[in-house]
Order: sequence, then C-alpha cells, then structure tokens
Amino acid sequence: MSQGPNYKAELVGVFGHPVAENPTILMQEAAFAALGLNWRYLTIEVYPEDLENAFIGLKAFNMRGINLTIPHKVKVLQYLDKVADDAALMGAVNTVRVEDGKLIGENTDGKGFINALVKDACISPRGKRAVILGAGGAARAISVELALNGASHITIVNRSVDRGEELAALLNEKTDVKAEFVEWNSVYQIPSETELLINATSIGLYPDVNNKPALDYETITGSMTVCDVIPNPPQTLFLIEAARKGARTIDGLGMLVHQGAIGFAMWTGKEAPIHVMHDALAQVFHLK
Ligand code: NDP
Repeated sequence: MSQGPNYKAELVGVFGHPVAENPTILMQEAAFAALGLNWRYLTIEVYPEDLENAFIGLKAFNMRGINLTIPHKVKVLQYLDKVADDAALMGAVNTVRVEDGKLIGENTDGKGFINALVKDACISPRGKRAVILGAGGAARAISVELALNGASHITIVNRSVDRGEELAALLNEKTDVKAEFVEWNSVYQIPSETELLINATSIGLYPDVNNKPALDYETITGSMTVCDVIPNPPQTLFLIEAARKGARTIDGLGMLVHQGAIGFAMWTGKEAPIHVMHDALAQVFHLK
C-alpha cells in the first residue's frame, strides 16, 4: 500500500517567561536537521498564570514534549501524570515527555552535569567530596544527581541561609550522601580535601562577565576538578582563575548540551548528535 505525503511536523519546545533569549532552539533544531527528522522546537512565551492553559494547548496540538524554564519548573508538577523519582526529589521538572497520552516529568539538568563529568571528562562522582556554590534550581539538580550517583560528601555554600539549610537537609534525609551547609557571608576558603568544586550560582552569566564568586582562589589546587554551570560565556572568570591554579575545569556549555541531548533522546527515541548541538551553541556564545 503506497503512503501519501506527510507534511505534519512533530512538535516540541519550551514554555518560559521571559523566553526570547533562550538558545535551546538552536541546538535542538540543529540536531533534528542533522538526523533528517521532521520535528520543530518552538520557543513559547507563557506567562505564569497561563501555564495550565499552555498544557491544554500542548495536548490539543499533540505535541511530543516540552521544556520548562523560568518560572515554570516547580509549578508544572501539578499538571503532570507522573514525575520521575529524581525530579520528584528535586521538586522541579525541566523536561516533559508524552508517553501514551500521559505527561511524564523529568529533570535533565543534573543528569546533564553528570554526563559532562563522566562522558567528557571521564570523572566518576562515586566517593567524591564536592563543594557546591549556590542552592537554587541548578544546585538542587546537581546535588541530587551527585548524591544518587555515589558522591560521599556535599557541602552546600549559599548566601541565603534558609535555602542552603533546606537543600542540605533534603540531601541528608532522602539520599545516602553526607551533606552540610555553610553560610556564604565572606570570602570562602575551599577545604583542601575537596575533589569537585561547582559554581551553581548565576554569578558570571552574560552580561555579568566580569564577576566571579567570592572565594579565596589561592585555596584551589591542582587536585580539584572545577565546574561551572554558566554556559555563556563558557570560559568564566571563575574557570579561568581555577585553571591558573592548575585545576581541571569543566564548562557549563557541556552541561547545557548534555541536558538537551538527554531531552532529545527522550522525545525522539534516537541518540542525540552531541557535537552538532555543541557547535550550534558555541557559535552564538563565542560571538558575544
Ligand atoms: P536560582 O535563581 O534558582 O539560584 C541562584 C543561586 O545563585 C542562588 O543560590 C543564589 O543565592 C545564588 N546567587 C546569585 N547571585 C549571587 C551573588 N551575587 N552572591 C552569592 N550568591 C548568589 O537560579 P538557577 O539555579 O536556576 O540558575 C543558576 C545558574 O545556573 C544560571 O546562571 C543558569 O543559567 C545556570 N544553569 C545552567 C544550566 C546548564 O545546563 N548549564 C542549567 C540550569 C541552570 P541565594 O539563595 O542567596 O539567592
């Protein structure tokens, strides 16, 4: 039986506000093109009060999935049929996939960080002692995945006490890691036994490129692996200083690409062309 033409694209995208500067479309559309898939990634402005209606629209349009960004990552949970265990632990979802008409919530941010660490840098988190700067969404995702992937000890260093204490308590109660909280109210000295140092704050994000976390950079050593979540610019002042001290560095662009690649695979069922996605973003970030 001959098949007629199929002009219908499969739809995914992102709901956010503000969302106009979200670059994910570039890497996902580049990946669809590289694999010859008739898929489209739509960058959709959704105001906070319209999130429920946006999901009615998603179902009506038979979309295959959606990313969530600021401010929807937490509120989205109430509109989903199921939430993956790690995302439930974080209390945040950044990727929804549609499976047999059901909306399944996932969080690929922390998994993207782990993949950048394990696949790109060949470093296992198992048994490692980590210091994480920040206690917001990125820090929650990374610390939960580090704990689930066998890190032995996590120190959360954060400016606001409530957020930091809450995250350390969550890690201690719900995972096997030993977590502690340190208030960040002056220049922080990195403990010498630290193996992974991660900036999970927004300090250094374009256009704030001349800023870096308040640390005693002399306490960074060559035995540490130093990671940043900031994807733009990939070479932050934080990473440049750490490299000067002999530390191995991992940039936030890798994490961003890996979390997108996990989403791509969840939606399409195909392995993501990581290098194509990386190049699509690197081009725009390096131009800035
Ligand atoms: P949140 O707003 O949830 O958290 C921000 C964190 O940064 C908080 O811990 C906040 O501390 C801290 N912070 C901000 N400014 C300062 C400052 N001047 N001094 C000390 N602490 C500060 O943001 P997210 O966690 O969602 O995002 C953080 C960064 O991670 C963003 O830049 C984002 O681009 C990046 N990101 C990267 C991803 C990737 O794939 N590469 C994925 C997700 C996010 P406090 O609690 O005291 O306010």
